[in-house]
Amino acid sequence: MYADLKLLIDGQFLSGEGRASQPVFNPATGAVLADLPHASPGDLDRALDAAQRAFETWRKTAPQDRGRILKRGADLIRERIDAIARVMTLEQGKPLAESRGEILYAADVIEWYAEEGRRAYGRVIPAKTPGVRQLVLLEPVGVAVAFTPWNFPALTPARKIGGALAAGCTLILKAAEDTPGTAVEFARALQDAGLPPGVLNLVFGDPAAVSAHLIASPISRKVSFTGSVGVGKQLVRLASEDMKRTTMELGGHAPVIVFEDADPVAAATALAMGKYRNAGQVCISPTRFYVHGSILEPFTDRFVAVAQSLKLGDGTEDGVTMGPLVSSRRVEAMERLVADAVARGGVVRTGGARRGNVGSFFEPTVITDLPDDSLLMTEEPFGPIAPIVSFSGFDEVMARANALPFGLAAYAFTTSNATATAVGDGLKAGMVGVNTLAVSNPETPFGGVRHSGVGQEGGIEGLQAYFDVKFLAQA
Ligand code: NAD
Repeated sequence: MYADLKLLIDGQFLSGEGRASQPVFNPATGAVLADLPHASPGDLDRALDAAQRAFETWRKTAPQDRGRILKRGADLIRERIDAIARVMTLEQGKPLAESRGEILYAADVIEWYAEEGRRAYGRVIPAKTPGVRQLVLLEPVGVAVAFTPWNFPALTPARKIGGALAAGCTLILKAAEDTPGTAVEFARALQDAGLPPGVLNLVFGDPAAVSAHLIASPISRKVSFTGSVGVGKQLVRLASEDMKRTTMELGGHAPVIVFEDADPVAAATALAMGKYRNAGQVCISPTRFYVHGSILEPFTDRFVAVAQSLKLGDGTEDGVTMGPLVSSRRVEAMERLVADAVARGGVVRTGGARRGNVGSFFEPTVITDLPDDSLLMTEEPFGPIAPIVSFSGFDEVMARANALPFGLAAYAFTTSNATATAVGDGLKAGMVGVNTLAVSNPETPFGGVRHSGVGQEGGIEGLQAYFDVKFLAQA
């Protein structure tokens, strides 16, 4: 059983009657799972009107009451985890265990925002003149519109739903057309938890047409997007016409530096497990491996061994540890990166090719000896390919790690306290993990610098993103 795909507008789940639609595919088999209805321009206008109407009451609903509904929604998501995990694996490909982990994390994110919403305090600033009050008030921005990608079909919507709704905003979410079922199940759980009509609306369609329509409307006041750098820049341009607030979680190309004093086998084990999670389709995935020359061989040998130990297959089957890529376009992207690396002297140590003719499988791959200006070292791979190169000095490797225009995540492994401090200070990224890959939690800020984006989701920063600041002076 897959999901019953619907739009959600003004509290009503709407089917495809008379609407344009598109098929949704299972990336492990190529089979069609269901037909996804597209929202018409009239549907989008109804969603905007409903969100605007709902905002007038939702903003005045006590944060405690908003939080109670969101918390109930998170609980329903947890209760329904078996069904939702299956939907996610069928449409996205990741193994069931990863789908379950993501759904639990997403429920925790919604619950965290539900609690934090009641702590949006503002400030009192002492005035120079006696009898004058100076208040900093936080007011919900208004109707938010959000666009989420296919790699984390539960977590990326949860961050936007949780932040917007806990702050008192209403939301129109356009989730990814490749993986709509998970978003529909989340919307159902939240409606069942008691969300008033119009507070959360869910639409699908042609991404460029839907985002242009929603952002151009004077009703929307906040734009949140997770996806590629190119699309993010386009949406910021659209939002700038009417000076709308934006949060942009864009791509990265996370460098990893493994210093000579690190344990090469332990580091390679942790990094390879992290690298191949979700078949590498993770924006904070470790993706450029700079390993000190003195430990390059044991590190690479262990990395290759972990890659070869993974069981590639349909994520619904027992024992499978890596699923397919989300679509054939991602397999083609991997082939292009490997061909370029090999043409420039790269050595494929394992993998390097698509697997089979059914579904969009690509082998866990390790490539060494490639130059820093190869595509794989400069473009976000967003797939299961690990390029490993060597370095010899601290300043040299920091310059290489910081050389790209991205700055989402960055990692380093070392047993030296002094090196840990220096590398933590020196890496240009929104999130840095030293001796750990755990840089994403409900309560910690998640976001990038430079081309990787603007603003954060998660942590108190993720809630602040949905507030306007008003300074009130009262004499
Ligand atoms: P893409 O750029 O076509 O799409 C990325 C996402 O943005 C998709 O979910 C898509 O539906 C959406 N999108 C595309 N155009 C849009 C528009 N005009 N308005 C609103 N949404 C729009 O690329 P793709 O082939 O799906 O993925 C390839 C690249 O996207 C990856 O290499 C990676 O760099 C990036 N990506 C990043 C993330 C992330 O978590 N930051 C997630 C998914 C994809």
